[in-house]
Amino acid sequence: MAINGPEIVSKYYGESEARLREVFDEAKKNSPAIIFIDEIDSIAPKREEVTGEVERRVVAQLLTLMDGLQERGQVVVIGATNRPDAVDPALRRPGRFDREIWINPPDAKGRQEILQVHTRNMPLGKDVDLAKLAEVTYGYTGADLAALSKEAAMKALRRALQQKIINPEDPSTFTDDNLKRIQVSMQDFLSAMRETIPSALREIYIEVPKVKWSDIGGLADAKQELQEMVEWPLKHPDRFKRLGIKAPRGILLFGPPGTGKTLLAKAVATESGSNFISVRGPEVLSKWFGESEKAIREIFKKARMAAPAVVFFDEIDSIAPARGMSVDTGAMDRIVAQLLAEMDSISRLDDIVIIGATNRPDMMDPALLRPGRFDRIVYIPPPDKEARLEILRVHTRKLKMGSDVDLAKIAEKTENYTGADIAALVKEAAMLALREAINNKEPHAREVTMKHFEEALTRVQPSLTGDIVKHYEDMAKTLRRALRGS
Ligand code: ADP
Repeated sequence: MAINGPEIVSKYYGESEARLREVFDEAKKNSPAIIFIDEIDSIAPKREEVTGEVERRVVAQLLTLMDGLQERGQVVVIGATNRPDAVDPALRRPGRFDREIWINPPDAKGRQEILQVHTRNMPLGKDVDLAKLAEVTYGYTGADLAALSKEAAMKALRRALQQKIINPEDPSTFTDDNLKRIQVSMQDFLSAMRETIPSALREIYIEVPKVKWSDIGGLADAKQELQEMVEWPLKHPDRFKRLGIKAPRGILLFGPPGTGKTLLAKAVATESGSNFISVRGPEVLSKWFGESEKAIREIFKKARMAAPAVVFFDEIDSIAPARGMSVDTGAMDRIVAQLLAEMDSISRLDDIVIIGATNRPDMMDPALLRPGRFDRIVYIPPPDKEARLEILRVHTRKLKMGSDVDLAKIAEKTENYTGADIAALVKEAAMLALREAINNKEPHAREVTMKHFEEALTRVQPSLTGDIVKHYEDMAKTLRRALRGS
């Protein structure tokens, strides 16, 4: 007998308790029976956390019903949840739900077994290596693997239709010989993998980043540092282990907004073949209001499943301010403590690198800057003339430009512009050219000329000033000195 948690609460609104009683009655009548309650957290949330009278009554009813079952022993209740912490603790007691079984997402061996089950009746090509597939499908649950197998088979079938090996309108093509020619190849599985997102990765944004080193202008030093500290250890873990070199666990990028910190973190993930998990500090605080430390735990759990992974904490100062500095001290301290604990528990083998970004490193809890945590600080300066030219080149790569455009001259004129400002400048120039073409009813967009850039320069202002830049540089110096001193 199956009960769908959310359905009980919503569909039978107002009569959820009666519905529950019915199910239990029926089970007793038909015993031996198993009652399966899916997503039990939705009908039995912690009572102190629910506000609605209805929910409270439903939980109470469930408790009564379960206690009433005891004597018989012929009815077993199985509840399922992915949020055990959200279930009313009164249910998690002997005589009620007295056994708890953790169903972990499958590991590589488990995944191989699941794949074997789901491909048992499939004509697999000789090149299909299930062990290898099992290895690369981290984060895939049993259901995900079933979907993956089905999708791979569909691909093989579609191919057979395309090549007209079989024709659904002509049953005579369904000969044994023809059917034998349909085979699911390794490539089918690999491309199916690209389309099936593993459920473990859905909630916290995990992406396969696409930013390359070549998409970032300037910042040569920062690129090289990240390459050495992150890309190499992730790419050649054995070699690093053998040499006894310790890769840093956490790296803090610090610099004015819009200078490419996010881009760098994404690029290092792309180039090291890692997943990219991005966490925005203020979002963690608002979306997980009052439970942000749980979010931190969840993020690291996901990261372990998605490894190799780069976890990027943007605006990390907002979730890890120096303790005692924020208004809501208690909650903040818990988050910082959780973050510290998680960072300490990452082992070298986890293949996880944490990259934080901030423009207020002075606001951060100093405990985070200790060895083994964010033990490297990389200053991301605003671009100098050379770097601005490179950024201009990156952003005009796909632009149709007039021969009069002198990027070097624009680079000269854009002091105090950040990378983001330059991106906006190029976009503005392109818009101006487009608008001109539309106004003159020309069929094609015009080339972007120097005139458009000149005009754009008056519209897009730099977001930095000499004073601000100097302030950042001073901060960088202080930090470097402090790190050396520690
Ligand atoms: P930050 O994380 O430092 O605030 P981002 O990396 O998010 O800045 O940059 C915002 C946007 O500005 C990028 O998407 C990109 O278009 C542009 N940009 C910033 N810095 C650079 C750079 N060095 N090279 C190329 N584009 C840049």
